[in-house]
Amino acid sequence: MNAPRVGVLALQGDVREHAQALTDLGADVRLVRRPEDLAAVHGLVLPGGESSVIDKLSRAFGMQQPIREAIAAGMPMYGTCAGLILLADRITDGIDGQQTFGGLDVTVQRNAFGGQVESFETDLDIPELGEEPVHAVFIRAPIVEHVGAEATSLAALTDGRVVAVQQGALLGTSFHPEMTGERRFHRHFLDLVRAA
Ligand code: GLN
Repeated sequence: MNAPRVGVLALQGDVREHAQALTDLGADVRLVRRPEDLAAVHGLVLPGGESSVIDKLSRAFGMQQPIREAIAAGMPMYGTCAGLILLADRITDGIDGQQTFGGLDVTVQRNAFGGQVESFETDLDIPELGEEPVHAVFIRAPIVEHVGAEATSLAALTDGRVVAVQQGALLGTSFHPEMTGERRFHRHFLDLVRAA
């Protein structure tokens, strides 16, 4: 089968790391900034970065509505950290007026690890991805406060707080596989693209 053509939303954030991860896996990767870029891809990654900035830029670039429509039409998307926030139907601790694309029936709390543990690393057991644990890097990370009936938790910290979710073709993680050489989430995303 041809290489799946997928986009990385390239308004702000760790775009290059995602593009590399997807390229490593054989995808045909495009940077997405305008509606016509989105129309040319079959899946979209929403990078880590600053969700309030990506939200504002997506509205300024006329991308909010096209992305919402793509989600409604079933386009697979994978959001890491800020990207997870952008895919959440509901957020807490957003800045004034902050909006999301939505799609995941979850409530996500921004910057959930305050103070000294703003950034940390840990290993997560995610049986769906195989025996090898996932080394997860959290950077001013959000957590999934509430998983709604439509969404499924894929991973949680030892205290039970949910840090990875899936709902149909939408995937979100609080942490950054694109930064550690972990490729299983991106592979899972490309499988969703191929299946769509
Ligand atoms: N704290 C950031 C936000 O609210 C997310 C941080 C990240 O993507 N590493 O968007």
